[in-house]
Amino acid sequence: MYRTHTCGELRLTDVSKTVTLAGWVQTERRISNALAFVDLRDRYGITQLNFSGDIINQLNETPLGREFVLQATGTVNERSSKNANIPTGDIEITVTAFTILNKSAVPPFTIQDDTDGGDDLRMKYRFLDLRRNAVRKNLQLRYAVSRSARNYLHENNFLDIETPFLIKSTPEGARDFVVPSRMNPGQFYALPQSPQTFKQLLMVSGYDRYYQIVKCFRDEDLRADRQPEFTQIDCEMCFVEQEDILNMFEGLVKRIFKDVKGIDYTETLPRMTWEEAMWTYGNDKPDIRFDMKLCNLKFPAHTFPGRPDISSLIAGEFAVFNDAETVIAVAAPGCSEYTRKQTDELTEWVKRPQIGMKGLVFIKCNADGTYKSSVDKFYTEDKLKAIANAAGAKAGDLVLLLAGAEERTRKATSELRLEMASRLGFRKPDEFKLLWVLDFPLFEYDEEGNRWVARHHPFTSPKPSQIADMINNNPVIENAAEYLKHPYASIKANAYDMVLNGNEIGGGSIRIFQRELQEKMFAALGMDKEEQQHKFGFLLGAFEYGAPPHGGIAFGFDRLCSIIGGSESIRDFIAFPKNNSGRDVMIDAPSAIDDKQFDELQIKLNLK
Ligand code: ASP
Repeated sequence: MYRTHTCGELRLTDVSKTVTLAGWVQTERRISNALAFVDLRDRYGITQLNFSGDIINQLNETPLGREFVLQATGTVNERSSKNANIPTGDIEITVTAFTILNKSAVPPFTIQDDTDGGDDLRMKYRFLDLRRNAVRKNLQLRYAVSRSARNYLHENNFLDIETPFLIKSTPEGARDFVVPSRMNPGQFYALPQSPQTFKQLLMVSGYDRYYQIVKCFRDEDLRADRQPEFTQIDCEMCFVEQEDILNMFEGLVKRIFKDVKGIDYTETLPRMTWEEAMWTYGNDKPDIRFDMKLCNLKFPAHTFPGRPDISSLIAGEFAVFNDAETVIAVAAPGCSEYTRKQTDELTEWVKRPQIGMKGLVFIKCNADGTYKSSVDKFYTEDKLKAIANAAGAKAGDLVLLLAGAEERTRKATSELRLEMASRLGFRKPDEFKLLWVLDFPLFEYDEEGNRWVARHHPFTSPKPSQIADMINNNPVIENAAEYLKHPYASIKANAYDMVLNGNEIGGGSIRIFQRELQEKMFAALGMDKEEQQHKFGFLLGAFEYGAPPHGGIAFGFDRLCSIIGGSESIRDFIAFPKNNSGRDVMIDAPSAIDDKQFDELQIKLNLK
């Protein structure tokens, strides 16, 4: 046995025990020729070792260095100067014998909570970064989340069933990673973008409750904190309706919050239709930790049928608003005293290419009840007041207005809302607001191909009442500019997303389970019979052998952990993540392979 206790374990109640610890040298402090302190660290904590008396000579003969692996035996004593910051801070070990189990090169950065290592360096030496408290805590949290999920799913009769990694393409909207097959020259496996078709086949096989905490692979450009391989809590159930799924998985997330954060969610989660979310927040994953609802002053009628037309509020001489398809306002609380510099800066912010607006109009709702605007020339104060009121602004608020094409303007206003909320401190990392977003459109318009693509994936079922709309209408889009008027644009799916603090943490759907409807769906997406057979013949075939009604959901496990852990970055919650170019800089992957490997695969490189 290398140790009797861990470095996080000993307390005053252990005083006078003889113990042996093993760990890494965090720091060594030489106080005098006769006294030295060493902080010994392991996964559990830090314990102070006191080297004094005879042992000091031995220490002089075999000096220690940072990150040396040390075994030390001694007696637990009460410290004279205590450290209230660590749980072992009341005691120290008076060392009587020690062994250096291994030396360490000088680490490239300090292995402490506040490290001096930059991102790249820490990625290259990830195995050292993982020794740091902050990173270790994240991985422990990740384990707590997975354990809680497994317990809940186990208690609810789910079976954890593995599905293969070497498969045929699963369409989740990304590019596949492919793996050449040596035994089948010229043929390739794809790595699963998700176990979607397999979990559906398991339902056909009668395993009515399936789950897996599983790696998925998507070859996407790694904008915005994505990883080429990531983990899902993947689930599927049969003989269920949407309501059953929502209840079951609302339960899962509540259980995780209870187990991991001690938070009791007693109320059912709010539910919002996709249309409501887009209308109110400009976004299908609204952050509802704060209000700041959008005010739709002008919009194309067919995009939100039945919503009130209040465009008369902005009617007047202002050409920008008159010409715009859409005008949306959002009120930023308490910002009426923004200076010229600040409003100029915000204007620049909305003009950035990522936001893509031409300008920003604002109305200051001054504390004294007056209104001041960048478009004073065009609107009377009464008009400004009416617009501000419609936007829900109070005295002291700043109303921000964007105008332009519908989709872009809605997205930009949504981004502006989030940006203002961040600036105002409304997006608190320790506040958790969950909701379901329901009734997504079944199809999404692909501008490049002037065709429909599946918004979720092609196995998602339409709302039963709209199956006829799908079957009886031709998917061809005659007039690209007016695609929103095509009947397919308003077909809704039996699909749902769970949203946490403005992030989609889970998504799923009730599936199509009849061959005929699945074929119709593939056809609507532009797949002819031959392609359907080639790509999904196995699934269509399985649907002929008693496929039960089924549905499921998958949670983005890395993201869920990062939000619960109060961090923006999923990388912090993955033991060995890739960088923004999809590289593992520690093991240096991807990398070239030997000529021999190419020969075996009968593949010739043809780099362009
Ligand atoms: N396979 C889907 C996804 O990865 C989830 C699901 O529909 O269950 O998003």
